[in-house]
Amino acid sequence: MKKDTTIFNLINEEKKRQTLGLELIASENYVSEEVMRAMGSVLTNKYAEGLPGKRYYGGCEVVDQIEQLAIDRAKKLFNAEWVNVQPHSGAQANAAVMLAVLKPNSRILGFDLSHGGHLTHGSPVNFSGKLYQPSFYGVEEETGQIDFDKVHAIALKKQPKLIICGASSYSRDWDYKKLREIADHVGALLMADISHPAGLISRGLLNDPLPHCHIVTTTTHKTLRGPRGGMIMLGKDFPNPWKEKNNKDEVKMMSTILDAGVFPGTQGGPLEHVIAAKAVAFNEALDESYMKYCIQVMKNAKVMAKCFMDKGYKVISGGTDNHSMLIDLRSKNLTGKLAENILVRADITANKNMVPFDDKSPFITSGIRLGTAAITTRGIKDKQIPMIVDLMDKVLMNPYKEQAIQEVKKDVNKLMKDYPLFG
Ligand SMILES: *Cc1c(COP(=O)(O)O)cnc(C)c1O
Repeated sequence: MKKDTTIFNLINEEKKRQTLGLELIASENYVSEEVMRAMGSVLTNKYAEGLPGKRYYGGCEVVDQIEQLAIDRAKKLFNAEWVNVQPHSGAQANAAVMLAVLKPNSRILGFDLSHGGHLTHGSPVNFSGKLYQPSFYGVEEETGQIDFDKVHAIALKKQPKLIICGASSYSRDWDYKKLREIADHVGALLMADISHPAGLISRGLLNDPLPHCHIVTTTTHKTLRGPRGGMIMLGKDFPNPWKEKNNKDEVKMMSTILDAGVFPGTQGGPLEHVIAAKAVAFNEALDESYMKYCIQVMKNAKVMAKCFMDKGYKVISGGTDNHSMLIDLRSKNLTGKLAENILVRADITANKNMVPFDDKSPFITSGIRLGTAAITTRGIKDKQIPMIVDLMDKVLMNPYKEQAIQEVKKDVNKLMKDYPLFG
């Protein structure tokens, strides 16, 4: 069999793109070489339907140990009582939870997609909006922030069975305690989807949903810096609305339902190579160096938001508590689509994004979403952020001047050479 040079040449091209560019997509990061090595291992050959010690296939003695390590490390990282590390992605984790705890046509309440929520929180184009009856809460136009009293009022009116909090684009922290009070008041389950800030939450740098939310889902590849994948967790405090007593059996009951929601509910065989890579990433996240990384991610984001505001850009909610921010470009007479296009030509990657109360379509948009998780992994510190914002501003203020864009591209490539990806 001949070597597949076509694909491997393309992979090298992508590696070059990632190495030379400034990566500001808020949901992306760079994993370590060990995480990649685990993912590219012989574990991909193994079928292991079921859970450690309870498999439907033989020969699982080794993968059992690997998956158990992933579970134990995740539990330690998040101080969780129970974890399922098998969801193939964040969307799969949410699908498994909803299949497990809802009946078709149940009412759900989520954060509006056009205000920063996620497709899997009830969007009509997603399973969550097709199989269930969604309603939504959003941010206030004035503040760009969620008013939790308004969420309470909507919940009372809509009587959802499941309330979902968490977002793809919301730069402020969440009041999980208050949301739990709301859920208890209307007899709903509360699920937090912490896909974006999971890593920051794990290190105690943001509010912790685990003591308040019945169920917590996340991806493993955003701030958490692991392989692409998902995970479901239960916290210690678990008086669920169907029963009165709070004891370990409640966790057992709920975890059994959730395990079944993953397999056989929505998935077949787990990806043990990815689960091994998750275990590697969790171990990295338990190291002191990851805590320093998370603190720097947040510092970089705060400085970036301030630099943009100093240049007259409108940052939604006036800043950020986490790794991300959303910039409304309407005051600069730019669309998100144009901004994304010209930045990419300067080797700066970011994504166009709806802003709350946007008057443009999801294909055009008025905003751009930025995050600092990836550039911080490269080693960029807050000291370099003003210069990076200057480069972006130069592109954005000269959208039709190819020379300016090419000058910035050169500066970006030169800068990134100082922050090598590997070794
Ligand atoms: C990214 C994200 C997801 C989906 O994760 P995938 O791995 O892309 O399926 C789900 N929910 C939220 C809030 C996200 O930000």
